[in-house]
Amino acid sequence: MRDDAQRGPPEGVPHARRTTALPIRGGRAPADQAGVRRSNLGLVLRHLRDSGPRSRARIAQDTGLNKATVSSLVAELGERGLVGTGDVDRDGSVGRPGLIVHLDGRAVCGIGVELNVDYAATLVLDLRGEVVFEHRVPLDAPAMGPERTLDELAALVGEALGAVAGRGAVPAGLTVAVPGLVRSVDGVVTVAPNLGWHDVPVLDGLRDRLDAAFPIRVENDANLSAIAEWAMGSEARTPDLLYLTGEVGVGGGVIVAGQLLRGAGGLSGEVGHMSLGDPGRVCGCGRSGCWETVVGLAALLREAADRDDPVRDPGRDLETRLAEIERRAADGDVRTLHALARIGTALGTGAAVLINVFNPAVIVLGGYFAVLGRWLMEPLTAELEARVFAPGLAGARVVLSTLGFTAAVRGGAHVALESVFDDPTLVQPVAAAAGTP
Ligand SMILES: [Zn+2]
Repeated sequence: MRDDAQRGPPEGVPHARRTTALPIRGGRAPADQAGVRRSNLGLVLRHLRDSGPRSRARIAQDTGLNKATVSSLVAELGERGLVGTGDVDRDGSVGRPGLIVHLDGRAVCGIGVELNVDYAATLVLDLRGEVVFEHRVPLDAPAMGPERTLDELAALVGEALGAVAGRGAVPAGLTVAVPGLVRSVDGVVTVAPNLGWHDVPVLDGLRDRLDAAFPIRVENDANLSAIAEWAMGSEARTPDLLYLTGEVGVGGGVIVAGQLLRGAGGLSGEVGHMSLGDPGRVCGCGRSGCWETVVGLAALLREAADRDDPVRDPGRDLETRLAEIERRAADGDVRTLHALARIGTALGTGAAVLINVFNPAVIVLGGYFAVLGRWLMEPLTAELEARVFAPGLAGARVVLSTLGFTAAVRGGAHVALESVFDDPTLVQPVAAAAGTP
C-alpha cells in the first residue's frame, strides 16, 4: 500500500454509485493513460462488488468496455489478488459460457475503529464486505484523557492488524470514528464535548503510535454510521436517508440524493445540539437545553435508574447494561417504561424537525435507540404525527438499525476500502508483495 495519509473526507457514498457511470475510455494524452487504467480497474472491481460474480463478456456488456480491455483489466486485478475466477457462467445471456470472475476478499482489508464516551470498538471488513474481526471494550474515555485513550485505540488497532496479517492480507486503511467535530485536513478533533476533548490531534497521535504504512482518516461517528447504513444496512441505497445515533451524545448523518451532506465546513449533522431539550439542563457542549440532554443515553439512565444502579456504571459493558434495561421494560417496571416513553416522545420532537427540513425517505435509529426501539416507537410515532407538517410524515419511515453499535466501525472500514475501489493499483501485485520484506 502507498501511504496517502489523510486524503480528505471519505467519499464512500458517492463512489458507490459510480457503477452506473460511463467508463472512462482511452484516446487521451499519454500522461492520462495510467489514470484511465486505474479508473477502469476500479470500475470493474466495483461492478463485481455491487452486481456480483459474472463472466468477462458480461462485464464488458454491463460496463461498455470492450472485451479485450476487460480481459486485460481482470488479469491485472487477478495479479493484485483482488479477483478470482471460478465456475462457468451458464446464464446464457451473453454468448458462450466463460469463466466467472468474482471479487476475492482475501488480499486486502479495511479497518474501522470507534472511540465513544464509554466504549471503544474495532471492526475489519474484507474486500467483499465480510466481517473478519471485531472487538469492543468498555472504556471511560473522559476519565482516561486523550493520551491514554489513544494508547487504548492503538492497542485495539494492533489486534485488528494482527487479524489482517493472519489472513495474509494487507490493510487498505484505517478510519477512526469519534463523537465530535473533526477537521478533516489534519485529523484534529476540534470539539468532542462528551469526551471533554478540544483540539486533540487524533490522526498524529495514532500515526505516532502505529507507525502505519497505510492511510489513516478521522471522521465523525454519525457520518460514518450513515455511510454504513447506506452501504450495507437494511435500508441500503435509499437515496434520502437520515441516521440518528443514540449514544451519550446524539449525532446525525444526513444522506441527500445518495450523497453525505457535509455542509460548508464539513460539520453538518450536529442535531444533538438543536435547542429542543430542557432549558434547565446543561449539555456536554456547555450550552443549556440541547436535544441530547433529553434523548441521549445519559437522559435515559438518569430517568430509569438511581445513581448507584449498575446500569449507570460506565465501566460496565454498555450492551449488558442496555440488556438489563430491556429486561426491566419487558418485566413491566414502571420507572423504566416511563423513562422510555419520555425518550420516545422527545425523540419524536426532534425527528419531526428533521423530517420537516430534510424530507427523508427513512430515518434509521442507531445505538441504544435501536436496542430499545420497541418501547420508543409508539410515543415517537405519535409525536411525529402531531408535529410533521406534510401529511403522512412526508412519506418518511422510521426503522431500527440492524447494524447496532457496529455502524460507525463498519462505515469506517467501508470508507477505508473505498480507496482500493478508487485505485486498485494501491494493492501491490501478489508476487511483488510476497518479495517485499
Ligand atoms: Zn449541546
